[in-house]
Amino acid sequence: MKSFRMSRILLIEDEERIARVLKLELEHEGYEVHTQSDGRTGLDAALSEPEWDLILLDVMLPELSGLEVLRRIRQVNAILPIILLTARDAVSDRVSGLDQGANDYVTKPFATVELLARIRSLLRQRSLQDQPAEEPYSLKIDDLTMDLKSRSVVREGAAIELTPTEFELLRFLIQHQDEVMTREQIISEVWGYDFVGDTNVVDVYIRYLRQKVDKPFSSKLIQTIRGVGYLMKAEPSQTEEADDGSVAKEKPL
Ligand code: CA
Repeated sequence: MKSFRMSRILLIEDEERIARVLKLELEHEGYEVHTQSDGRTGLDAALSEPEWDLILLDVMLPELSGLEVLRRIRQVNAILPIILLTARDAVSDRVSGLDQGANDYVTKPFATVELLARIRSLLRQRSLQDQPAEEPYSLKIDDLTMDLKSRSVVREGAAIELTPTEFELLRFLIQHQDEVMTREQIISEVWGYDFVGDTNVVDVYIRYLRQKVDKPFSSKLIQTIRGVGYLMKAEPSQTEEADDGSVAKEKPL
């Protein structure tokens, strides 16, 4: 383990009671917590400090909405872990939040233990990425390479842009290549073991990932195992039905 410092969390939340309670709980868990109570000062704080380990971002905020804050943070920082605090029935907020690069969300009212578990999960992923490596730490499958240090993905020489969640999903699938992974296994590793949302989120992200890492190329790496989950494999399976349009299966030689 490398040198230890307290993880620093920025909490952007306008409901004073929630902010106060969360700050106490998080400090009790050993985090250093700073709070901002509107979107604009929250965004300023998020951007002016390079040292945040994680941001907890309420969606309904005065001055600037949480989604707008998220969008502007992502323009300059693609990897900072961000968890959205969303209202129970605001499904569209959660969808656009994930689309815009939020790593996770919790729905109000949430149990603090649940939020803490998600925070730990994201910080764990983050610390794995931060681990110093003498040689580039990379994963490979077929003609696709993931560099975990620079967080770049290349297939057939072409750079592929992934959101943080897509990146973690791809990493997990490659680490378990040739093994069928269930939606539950994927959820618990990529989204955190106590994720309470719908496991359909996996299918949604697999679809995003396929668009980027499979669709433009002649061989498909991600297979759907019906009724079970997904399999990442270098050889295209003959029994696999084309999920996303039929592409001529030519061997790239
Ligand atoms: Ca609010």
